[in-house]
Amino acid sequence: MRGGYNVPVAGAPLAEVRELPAPDRLYLPLASRRFDFSDVRVGEGQSVVRGEVLAVDPERFSIPLLAPYGGIVRLGEVEGHIVLDELDASADARVSSGSVSGGPAAGPGGGPAARSTGKPIAERLLTLGAWQYLSDARTGDPVDPLISPSATIASTLRLEPFLAGGEAQLDGALERLARGLEHLRGMAPEAPLYVIVPDADEPLAAELRKTVSACSGAHVVSVPMRFPFDDPALLARYLKLPAGPDAAVWAIPVEGVLAVEAALTDGRPCTERIVSFAGPAVREPVHVRLVPGHPVADILADRLCREPARVVDGGLLTGAVLPPEQRGIDSECTGLTVVGEPTRQTLLAFARPGISRRSYNRSFVGTLRTDMSMRYKAELSGEVRPCIACGQCADVCPAEILPQVIHRHLYADRLEEAQRTRVDLCVGCGLCSFVCPSKIDLRTEFLDAKRVLREEEEALRAEAEAAAAEAQAAEAAQAGEAEAAAAQAGEVTS
Ligand code: SF4
Ligand code: SF4
Repeated sequence: MRGGYNVPVAGAPLAEVRELPAPDRLYLPLASRRFDFSDVRVGEGQSVVRGEVLAVDPERFSIPLLAPYGGIVRLGEVEGHIVLDELDASADARVSSGSVSGGPAAGPGGGPAARSTGKPIAERLLTLGAWQYLSDARTGDPVDPLISPSATIASTLRLEPFLAGGEAQLDGALERLARGLEHLRGMAPEAPLYVIVPDADEPLAAELRKTVSACSGAHVVSVPMRFPFDDPALLARYLKLPAGPDAAVWAIPVEGVLAVEAALTDGRPCTERIVSFAGPAVREPVHVRLVPGHPVADILADRLCREPARVVDGGLLTGAVLPPEQRGIDSECTGLTVVGEPTRQTLLAFARPGISRRSYNRSFVGTLRTDMSMRYKAELSGEVRPCIACGQCADVCPAEILPQVIHRHLYADRLEEAQRTRVDLCVGCGLCSFVCPSKIDLRTEFLDAKRVLREEEEALRAEAEAAAAEAQAAEAAQAGEAEAAAAQAGEVTS
């Protein structure tokens, strides 16, 4: 693997995981990064138990939004959210383990499973909220429960600054990890299972390697602890796994393996997450255990050391600004990264030697100070400038493409050229944007281009399918006409 860079930025959380006081109400967003839970399955004032299906995403295999606690449903109170009132954390709805091999799983509370797939294990994982953790390694999309993978990549790493990786997720849970891996193996026995572990000397890394090596059929892959070497698309390329529509590669993060274990061993719904709360504007950066819907305002209250603050849903490099109207943690949230909003312009920044600044290209005096982390801030400190062909973006890019060349094509509206120079290989890690001295937002440019190319490809495929269906219908009609004519001719003769 080449490229990559660990951003030396201040504000990382402690490895330990803290519990947060239980909230009075939950605000469950009906949308998250990949899901749109538009099919609401509960009514106003309905009483639900923990793990009950509140809504599903009809476009993505009916992946459900589960009730993290029991409570009373309030609809329409906060736009785009289901509010849960009068919370009851005591009722632990479980699906009986017998249904894994004995037919479709019933939902907690006796309701139907989220989707009938004919595959009992997939149905159980869908019903219990664990299926959402499986994604296509190359696209990041949710995977089809009806299609078996050609390989599975389970990663214990999360290398983006601040987010909770194996060290936070696996504290005291190595046995559960081993059981989860066995379950994954059982779900796709023909497909190789690659388990990504850190190439590090720490005791936890050694213990992890030992645990994984003991799992039958798991291939241990040690990867350097450099961002973004945990990216599933890069790993699939690195492992030279076959690509194409018939060779789906599943990817699952460590919390997903634990969710699979909880669902298949105990029938427990997956309603908790470990979310990092970190960044330079956070007084005490920590990892916290919480449930989706936990009010964002409760998490931020009295914990910021700089205001106004910008809250990012996700990590430092790949997260997106949390919409102000979002009231609760969504069901895919991995972290909240908080940075101070710029309130004033830095005067004569170009004339300062930068004693308190550090950057990738070592152009400031502060680079000589080994004790100093980079200041992560929201302001640009100047304007976006034209590309100066410094090559720093290509230096850090892990996808082995030339971001500056692709940028030139996109800037000139040459989408096909950008595709020829393999913009599709960009994994959206954001390192190029981070190191660019001209402050060009290359990542957003490339992700937009990939989206347009994908939409064009899908439109072409749909057109070809429609044309094929039309041709088939015309052929069938022609055959029918010929048959009718022959029958008529037979009648005339007789
Ligand atoms: S081009 Fe894509 S993969 Fe390469 S550094 Fe930029 S965002 Fe990351
Ligand atoms: S880092 Fe920015 S300025 Fe340097 S080559 Fe890349 S796009 Fe151009």
